Amino acid sequence: MKTYQIVIAGGGAAGISVAASLKQRDSSLTIAIIEPSETHVYQPGQTLVGRGVMSLEQLKRPTRSFIPANVDWIKASVTEFKPESNEVALDNGDTLTYEHLIVSLGLKLNIEGIEGLSETLGQNGVTSNYVTELSAYTWEQVQQLRSGRALFTQPPMPIKCAGAPQKAMYLSCDYWLKEHRLSGVDVEFHNAGAVLFGVGEFVPVLESYVKKYGIDTCYGSTLIKVDGPAKKAWFKQGDGSVTETHFDLLHVTPAQCAPDVVAGSSLANDAGWVDVDQKTLQHTRFANVFSLGDVCSAPNAKTAAAVRKQVPIVADNLLAVRKQQSMPGVYDGYGACPLTVEVGKVVLAEFGYGGSLKPSFPLDPRVPRSLYWWMKTTGFPWVYWNLMMRGREWLVKTNP
Ligand code: FAD
Repeated sequence: MKTYQIVIAGGGAAGISVAASLKQRDSSLTIAIIEPSETHVYQPGQTLVGRGVMSLEQLKRPTRSFIPANVDWIKASVTEFKPESNEVALDNGDTLTYEHLIVSLGLKLNIEGIEGLSETLGQNGVTSNYVTELSAYTWEQVQQLRSGRALFTQPPMPIKCAGAPQKAMYLSCDYWLKEHRLSGVDVEFHNAGAVLFGVGEFVPVLESYVKKYGIDTCYGSTLIKVDGPAKKAWFKQGDGSVTETHFDLLHVTPAQCAPDVVAGSSLANDAGWVDVDQKTLQHTRFANVFSLGDVCSAPNAKTAAAVRKQVPIVADNLLAVRKQQSMPGVYDGYGACPLTVEVGKVVLAEFGYGGSLKPSFPLDPRVPRSLYWWMKTTGFPWVYWNLMMRGREWLVKTNP
């Protein structure tokens, strides 16, 4: 049984970034990252692949190239958390022990929760930008559709990047408009929720795009079943009734939940997420456990932008706990959602807990801007690969 000072479960955006930040602070720490995947994917780019603005290859880099020096990469999956004995069991039969644990396993797309979806996803015009490889299929289908009915779905919250279902829709509409096809395409947005966007300040500008593209919005409408070959989708309505709709293109955002290995462990809260204090990101019951990224219970927008702010807070707080000092880092719930309302324009929604606006720039955040399109396509990927994933914490304060 091998022992580390810090074990990081999950080496995606959050896991790798926090390992890099910890090593910047103390290069003597013994750290292991448990991560099964050889390839790291820049998921925010999947929206752009779905519109042909980026290629899938541009989103992928070898995991190996981001593992910080002197950090052990354990290429395996966690099969069990045993926080009572400070152990983590792996699918290769090994068990690791730790002094401190960071859980950053991301979340699970609940594709099986929609009857018939797994059989047809990636065929028959049924796609999802949430599945990395299918974002290219989205773009193929958007280009192929000359007329007919296009459905875009949004499940109950929480999901990662809550704006991404709409981003796929607006960018597709933008293409059909520019190709003079939009008048022949019926576009419907089936949203399980009751509002277009959770932060009210951004709703008017999004509604103006809904109007511009002639989108029918259906609130309280949840996708429950798909028949790909028959091109039919079924939606459960708020009153419990079920409606059947024909489609030519169906962009699905599946419901999202904590990975089973977390939800079934004593780390989980009632909803399955790692139960953390939303300010310190320390576990509420196991003081030597921290969590960040999509898997943690903090009620922020689950985004890479949130991860960028959470990383130094977890690094500072965990090291303070190791020295038996009080924790200095306070997370204010910052997350950001660059809403791609058309090619060349983005509404940059930045907000914290309770929907408080947290713009990084002295500009009205409700206005679609080409500057933010540049950031979405060029600036943010650069920050992700060269700063966040390398432990360089520019413009991030651990105590706002
Ligand atoms: P991930 O990056 O998903 O990493 C989790 C890691 O855990 C993975 O590498 C996985 O292999 C590993 N893992 C899973 N199970 C196990 C196990 N049992 N054992 C060991 N390892 C395991 N964010 C933004 O900021 N802006 C955007 O515009 C934006 N747009 C998005 C659009 C789409 C379509 C999608 C899908 C996401 C978008 N996001 C956006 C969200 C952002 O990508 C995520 O919030 C971010 O990647 C979360 O990081 P994470 O480390 O928590 O999870």
